[in-house]
Amino acid sequence: IISDLIPFKIFGNADKAIDIEVAEKICEKHGFKLERDKREKGGGVHKVEEVIVEPVAQVVEEVEEDKLELRAPIITFMGHVDHGKTSLLDALRKTQVTAGEAGGITQHIGAYCIFHNGKPITFIDTPGHAAFSAMRARGANVTDIVVLVIAADDGIMPQTKEALSHAKAAGVQLMVALNKCDLPTANVMRVKSQLQDIGLAPVDWGGEIEVMEVSAKTGLGLDNLLETMSLQAEVLELKADPKASPRATVIESSMVAGKGPVATVIIGQGTLKVGQPFICGPLWGKVKAIINDRGESIKSVLPGMPCEVIGFSDMPHVGDEVVVMNSERDVKKLSEERLEEIRQKKLSVPRRSTLEHLFASIEDSNKKALKIVLKCDVQGSVEAVSKCLTDIQSDKCNLDILHKEVGAINESDVLLASASDAIIIGFNVKVENKALTVAKRETVQIKLYSIIYELIDQVKEAMAGLLDPIT
Ligand code: GDP
Repeated sequence: IISDLIPFKIFGNADKAIDIEVAEKICEKHGFKLERDKREKGGGVHKVEEVIVEPVAQVVEEVEEDKLELRAPIITFMGHVDHGKTSLLDALRKTQVTAGEAGGITQHIGAYCIFHNGKPITFIDTPGHAAFSAMRARGANVTDIVVLVIAADDGIMPQTKEALSHAKAAGVQLMVALNKCDLPTANVMRVKSQLQDIGLAPVDWGGEIEVMEVSAKTGLGLDNLLETMSLQAEVLELKADPKASPRATVIESSMVAGKGPVATVIIGQGTLKVGQPFICGPLWGKVKAIINDRGESIKSVLPGMPCEVIGFSDMPHVGDEVVVMNSERDVKKLSEERLEEIRQKKLSVPRRSTLEHLFASIEDSNKKALKIVLKCDVQGSVEAVSKCLTDIQSDKCNLDILHKEVGAINESDVLLASASDAIIIGFNVKVENKALTVAKRETVQIKLYSIIYELIDQVKEAMAGLLDPIT
């Protein structure tokens, strides 16, 4: 158990309490289901001794190194609106359509796979950082490589920076595609120097970021883009065990007349086959049909590949995991239990960081950093506030600014904070209505200030453990 705790960055011992969420995951790994002791009241941290564990039939397999095989990399395109994400995805897909197949690709399932030199590459076809972070907020880190799309005539724009912060917070591999290089107004040198300025020095300038010149319109550089993705994927050595118990992540779901709930999933491990019973969040299902990105009905899918699955009991959430189990009886039983837990609000809203609870959560869990998304009225304040914040010394915890930018607090900021368990600090800015709604739903804390020393003092006090928790 102590070694199981290490991936959660917890160095446990027999006397140390752990979070209920962590205990839940450890139980699940060993084929147990954790239930809170009925005698126990209230929330907070629970000692493992205070819970009853009951076995359920869920199959959890250890990953064995020697059974791992290379899998397709999963790529997401992000960037500023109109810089050409959709056009690039379409153009890459068209490179696969040979004359004989023209018109053969009809299906839009939210992801597709293309072959480059015989090797598969999977693209998530829902560009934008909102979808990316909404998934991550549910614990699903599906993407291996983010391609930051920047129009070479326009350069780095606010959403380019947002996208970059999302990709950095997720810790995924990053590459840059300079699109619209067919335009006479394209200025590659200017964008490369902008990239250099924000710490993304291109490889040909002695840095580490692959920056490729492409055009979705003329097809310029697309082959090079694919080749570079393949090479990066090789370096990442992305592997999965095709014989393991299948797991897949939902990336899109919808209700289709005549088919019922349909979800697009990407296989994480194992081989998903028609006929297998599965659990997905609180829902259960049995794989009735698998349809690939060409609209063909297939019998099975390998890790890294996308497909559409029919056979869910209801519409699953994006980001939820499909986990295959042994029997239909087991999945129905587990689904009933999970639905009951939801009814009783046991699995309710996730606990998120707040400034006031920062210290408590550092003391009793594995949080070692206060993560902040910072929005200010003008560039001068972004620089001043972030400098003051990073200057705060604390031996109790670190401070990590995930994203800093000028402008009102928007939905993307909230999703980034939610996915990374960060708080949002606004200095002389407003909160967009949509962002307020999402913040409420995701229980993300937004703190607004108009006096700089109040802001700094409060963060300082939180980091020193001096703020009184508010309930
Ligand atoms: P998105 O918002 O990032 O998905 O951008 P779109 O793919 O919708 O593209 C925005 C606009 O730029 C469209 O009018 C495209 O036709 C145009 N566009 C996209 N790629 C290129 C390109 O490589 N060259 C030129 N000239 N126009 C492009």
